[in-house]
Amino acid sequence: MIDKSAGIDESADEAPQTRIERLLTSLKAQGIADERLLHALEYTPRDLFVPDLFLDRSWEDSAIPINCGQTISQPYIVALMTQALKLEGRHRVLEIGTGSGYQTAILSRLVRYVYTIERYRSLMVEAETRHKRLMLENIIYRFGDGWEGWPEQAPFDRILVTAALPEEPLPLLAQLKNNGIMVGPQGRGSVQRLLRYTRKDDSYLTEDLGEVRFVPLIAGVAKEA
Ligand code: SAH
Repeated sequence: MIDKSAGIDESADEAPQTRIERLLTSLKAQGIADERLLHALEYTPRDLFVPDLFLDRSWEDSAIPINCGQTISQPYIVALMTQALKLEGRHRVLEIGTGSGYQTAILSRLVRYVYTIERYRSLMVEAETRHKRLMLENIIYRFGDGWEGWPEQAPFDRILVTAALPEEPLPLLAQLKNNGIMVGPQGRGSVQRLLRYTRKDDSYLTEDLGEVRFVPLIAGVAKEA
């Protein structure tokens, strides 16, 4: 039984559908209007991506810890970043930081191909297992350092970074098509700015989409026991 004495989740008794609807209502109230995106969020079971310990919080609008000291992003932030990418069905998208694979799954429902890179092999394998269960078959995985991008598959229509970039990501920007868009958090502290870069030939228009909190992007692949 879930101990509700701490008052963490007052909605724990509700039917899953009610919790999903509550989240969608909240996202719409915060400015998420893209119908295809709202549909993808509704039909991607977030409970499959969170650790058992946090199952009762699956449909809350909050980030949740996952293995390897990482986090599954807050649904509002997933929605905000996805909407900011202005995706089209024909797009090939590069994602840096697979993590739980939740954001990857949302992207996979909206575009032709998602190329996703993760520096923890175990996280990547777990995410792939979840995607197979959901029969998402347009995702290509790479265990590696996302800072370097994926030169063999470049250029991309869109790039999404889900870990905080320490500085302007020139190697990634170089892998963006002309008129392509890259979205990601940037900054060295615990709080960063969410930036959107739009490539115009050899220059980039930069927009600040607000304050966010992400785990840092770390160079190199992780050594696991
Ligand atoms: N979108 C994910 C967010 C996971 S947190 C989700 O919603 O679940 C960010 C992820 O970026 C972590 O899994 C972390 O290991 C990964 N990461 C950090 N630095 C990286 C790098 N240089 N290359 C690839 N992945 C990286």
